[in-house]
Amino acid sequence: MLYRVEGLVIRSTDYGEGNKIVTLLTPDFGKQGIVVRGAKKLKSRYGSLAQVFTYGDYSYYKGGTLGTLNSGEIIRSFHELRQGLDGPAYAAYAAELTDRAINDDEAAANLFHQLLAFQSALAEGKDPQIVVRAYEMKVVAAAGYEPNLDECAGCGKSNVAFRFSPPAGGALCHSCAYRDPGALELDDGAWRLLRIFAGMDMRRLGNVSVKESTKLQLRLALRRWMDTHLGLNLKSRGFLDQLEKYGDMLSPDVARPAPRVKPQPSPDEGTDRSDDPSV
Ligand SMILES: [Zn+2]
Repeated sequence: MLYRVEGLVIRSTDYGEGNKIVTLLTPDFGKQGIVVRGAKKLKSRYGSLAQVFTYGDYSYYKGGTLGTLNSGEIIRSFHELRQGLDGPAYAAYAAELTDRAINDDEAAANLFHQLLAFQSALAEGKDPQIVVRAYEMKVVAAAGYEPNLDECAGCGKSNVAFRFSPPAGGALCHSCAYRDPGALELDDGAWRLLRIFAGMDMRRLGNVSVKESTKLQLRLALRRWMDTHLGLNLKSRGFLDQLEKYGDMLSPDVARPAPRVKPQPSPDEGTDRSDDPSV
């Protein structure tokens, strides 16, 4: 059967002599794996359609699990994201996160638009440390693990000060904080942004200026959340961590996380769902 879809390339791997297999995130069919024959040959018309981050229109035949590209056209190459350090690091991380958090064939219309908006925002030079945190929130929501940020997970109270507790499901008020001694103390700015990220469509993301200390808290909060609920061991994360740490060292106004923030061993160690290419 011949399919025609718009898609974003979230993974591209070598396959046999000169071919590639790309994984597309599509609005209607979720993730789709497609063989692009001859993609690695210099003269291939379809080589750029097989590059990661490409947004294109793809026609492919599909009988079994893998499709075979019939024809295609680039809508936006996102070549900006293949240059420098930031673009490739953040875009590769978002692509891998998407690939690993979303199941095959799961309709992903909303996440598709969020990823497209994420890549556009990066390409336009918006602050990658904010854009990526907003996108992480979209991924956890798409995977069914959106945190509850407005009511205490212990007693249901709202409109009080909270700590952020991934194991408890989000907010914990101070009287219930004993349930999770590792709950994070976040400043008002971090809470506000977490709520904005949760409610916002990435297509409407403007330019925001955020304190370095708040960015650090957001990074920690979302990292803990994803480690607790998604438990993915992402290859692209190490490089991103290096990049963000290096950025921290250069920033003058970095406040260390509040004293109650104690690093914990990642709960997902050894339980990585899969590291095989699965294609
Ligand atoms: Zn409570």
